[in-house]
Amino acid sequence: MRLCMLGTAGYHPNETRHTACCMLPSQGFVLDAGTGFFRVRDHLVTPRLHVFLTHVHLDHVAGLTFLLDVLWEKPVESVTVHALPEHLDVVRKQLFGSLLFPVEFRYRTQPVQPEFEVEGVRVRTCPLDHGTPCIGYRFDWPDRSLAYVTDTRCSERYADFVRGVDLLIHECNFPDRLRHLADLTGHSVVSDVLRLARKAEVRRLCLTHFNPLLTGDDPAGLDQAETSFPGVIVAADGLQIDF
Ligand SMILES: [Zn+2]
Ligand SMILES: [Zn+2]
Repeated sequence: MRLCMLGTAGYHPNETRHTACCMLPSQGFVLDAGTGFFRVRDHLVTPRLHVFLTHVHLDHVAGLTFLLDVLWEKPVESVTVHALPEHLDVVRKQLFGSLLFPVEFRYRTQPVQPEFEVEGVRVRTCPLDHGTPCIGYRFDWPDRSLAYVTDTRCSERYADFVRGVDLLIHECNFPDRLRHLADLTGHSVVSDVLRLARKAEVRRLCLTHFNPLLTGDDPAGLDQAETSFPGVIVAADGLQIDF
């Protein structure tokens, strides 16, 4: 199965990264809808599109307002947004409020449960520690699994939730030297994420949601990290991962 990274920055876009969005084209699943969401159009191959939101900070939802263009002349029968009930309210009433957007929200919404099923895929959610309600997702197919964890202070509290997944996509907004900012803003530093991935025995780890001011080859600060993880992937916009 192929995962496409469509937006790999947190907070705001920079010259090379849009904000949080990734997609499993064969499933019609999109994880978060930051500004990278406009790229969903290029990967749409299913009649139904499912968007899973972690929370409603703008770097995760602004792209929902691009749906008119994303769907233009595409044979998509339905779009369903999955999120916490209070987040669905914010999307409907605020993000798509008439002062912010000219066309009212007219897509399906589905409040998430701790465990549910979408298109035959087992989906689980886990509360995260971001200073505002935020959830991680785990998707299990009969022969593979994926976890998507952003935005959060990294902690072993959810090690069991991600345990043994084939691919863990985890935020890494800060290098270790900016730990005070991670604590302040509810984000992760790289060494904590690497340690968690080892403890939870995930098979592959992909870091994403990078601080947009850190624009070099190593926005996560891997070269300064206290530990390592074999084959860790530093996501870039346009990266595709087969798992
Ligand atoms: Zn974010
Ligand atoms: Zn956030």
